[in-house]
Amino acid sequence: MSLPTPRPDLVELEGYHSPQLDVQVRLNTNESPYAPPVAFVDAWLDALRAAPLHRYPDREAGDLRRALADRLDQPTQRVFCANGSNEVIQTLLLAYGGAGRRAVVFEPTYALHGHIARLTGTQVVVGERSDDYRVSPTEAGILIASQRPAVVFLCSPNNPTGTVEPRATVEGLLAAILEHGPGLLIVDEAYGEFANWSALELVADDMPLVVTRTYSKVWSLAALRLGFAVAPPAIITELEKVALPYHLSVATQIAGREALRFDPEMRSRVEMLVSERERLAHELALLPGVTVVPSGANFVLVRFDGDGHAMWQRLVERGVLVRDFSRWPRLEGCLRITVGTPEESDLLLGALRAVLEESR
Ligand SMILES: *Cc1c(COP(=O)(O)O)cnc(C)c1O
Repeated sequence: MSLPTPRPDLVELEGYHSPQLDVQVRLNTNESPYAPPVAFVDAWLDALRAAPLHRYPDREAGDLRRALADRLDQPTQRVFCANGSNEVIQTLLLAYGGAGRRAVVFEPTYALHGHIARLTGTQVVVGERSDDYRVSPTEAGILIASQRPAVVFLCSPNNPTGTVEPRATVEGLLAAILEHGPGLLIVDEAYGEFANWSALELVADDMPLVVTRTYSKVWSLAALRLGFAVAPPAIITELEKVALPYHLSVATQIAGREALRFDPEMRSRVEMLVSERERLAHELALLPGVTVVPSGANFVLVRFDGDGHAMWQRLVERGVLVRDFSRWPRLEGCLRITVGTPEESDLLLGALRAVLEESR
């Protein structure tokens, strides 16, 4: 073989897979079912036409960061933007992880935390969640004391369970990190706007806390690839060192800034999805052999008595695609359902009732 092999620690890694199928109802990737407002698209394209495309974009993304900081009521120096919150997480791990350092994740959780950690040579330490999928601050504290991780990931609302951690848990993890650190707590709030509180209020210049967010879910802009972190300015400075120069295109910067001017429209989308989530969770819980995990996100995790994968397959046959977690450790029999439009929920519920009826 004349081709070189990659780094030995990468040989065993698999890429990220999320199967896409051509079906009528797609409820598998937690995107918004609603396109962004047409007036936003017009404002974005108008501003883009006026931009000097032969010049590199603003390296600091100053306008975007100021606009975001303004909306979040944070100083601009606490905001870092990148191509999706996945790139934010990668940048954090490049700066604070790496060989000889550890990252803690609490399973079951977002697979990319562990995956990106491994890509950056960071050793992954797995902590367990309780039966209700929450993180116990006591057990997490013991793990942090023994492992002394450089990075601790807390996904809240947690993907794929929807679990929102209470403020006391975030404070408990911070206290453990301050006692046994140094280390960094990364609270991934990709679904933060759907929840009833945010760790953003705990960010302070002397706290080892980073909150990451994205335009992909709440802002109906998954196609754009824009995410951001809110963290102490000293951490933002390190992230800027690690990010590639001009990594954020002018189109992305302008879109991110313009989108913020459509806050009321975005808020009404969030409200629609939250009330639809409550209706969907209620209807699902009425079905026989179905357990619904309480969710603070734009999806619900559902456990089926019996073969979850077979259920997934039969839903696909009826034109409904959800995400199959039934073969994941700790998630036996579970499917994750993105909250779509009321019509999509009804199609899903109809398909589920039909499948359950057939298999009786
Ligand atoms: C969807 C998701 C993200 C990420 O995405 P980007 O599209 O890269 O901004 C990050 N974290 C969690 C938990 C997610 O579910």
